Amino acid sequence: MNTKILSSLGPEPWKAPWWKPAKGDGITFGYIIAIHLLAAVGLVFFPVPGWRVIAATLVLAWLGGFGTTIGYHRSLAHTALRLHPVVRHFLIFFAMFNGSGSPDSWTANHRQHHSRVETDEDISSPWIGGFWWSHLRWLWQAGGVPLDRWCPDLNRPQYRFWNRAQVAILFVALFAGAPFGWAAFFWLGPMRLVMSLHAQCFVNSIAHMREGRKDGEDSSQNITWLGFLHFFQGENWHENHHAKPSSAKFGWTFWQVDFGWYAIVVLEKLGLATAVKRPTFRGVEVESSRVDSASVGDMQPVPVTAD
Ligand SMILES: [Zn+2]
Ligand SMILES: [Zn+2]
Repeated sequence: MNTKILSSLGPEPWKAPWWKPAKGDGITFGYIIAIHLLAAVGLVFFPVPGWRVIAATLVLAWLGGFGTTIGYHRSLAHTALRLHPVVRHFLIFFAMFNGSGSPDSWTANHRQHHSRVETDEDISSPWIGGFWWSHLRWLWQAGGVPLDRWCPDLNRPQYRFWNRAQVAILFVALFAGAPFGWAAFFWLGPMRLVMSLHAQCFVNSIAHMREGRKDGEDSSQNITWLGFLHFFQGENWHENHHAKPSSAKFGWTFWQVDFGWYAIVVLEKLGLATAVKRPTFRGVEVESSRVDSASVGDMQPVPVTAD
């Protein structure tokens, strides 16, 4: 089945001017420009808000980060664990509230990324389209990947519901702080969304720009400092993740802090997460991880039982 990128800008959309959105992605482009402009205004007028605003912003960003890393990434995209439906949909809501888009498109883009990493079918490779392509531009220029190919398991009413709710959720996400004043508006809305956006974008860009990569090789790398943008919820250990994409655990050593994993362990103890996959290591497999990172076996869509 066809797995090419479906952009209206042609088979090599990274060659189009950055300001040209693919057909159907004008709203995404406008949204990204708008939150950056609003965030810049907020930073100028309200660089230091009260502690309540900071605390509320951090709580929302923390929940959003969990939504994306546990809900979207580890559970839906990689089926590395199975979440209780209430927890799953709670996390989907906060992933969307964080600006991560709908569960099916996130999952499809991500599965194709792993399967076609650093090729012209990888939707966000910096080695193909450059830094800005991998960091942001693909969001409005790549046009998406075939959903029927990459996430037939999410073609269910419970997930289609979220697609329909996306614009409303983003609207609420943007204006959540407005009733509490201008500082709350800017910090809980556009500034939080911009921060969360770039935290995720760095995983696609910098975490795929390993120096000394050989041609055709997976370029994923672990980046400790990126953990600060992710509250050390685990996404910054991206080389680990590419090496063992079906593992629910991203931090492999005691110093590779992974709050996403700690939360999964707690959910498992409470019976709210099952079928949790842990990484297995045999011999020196960690060092040779890049060899098996080329495997796409993990990335074939796995049917998920309906709830
Ligand atoms: Zn990656
Ligand atoms: Zn992944």
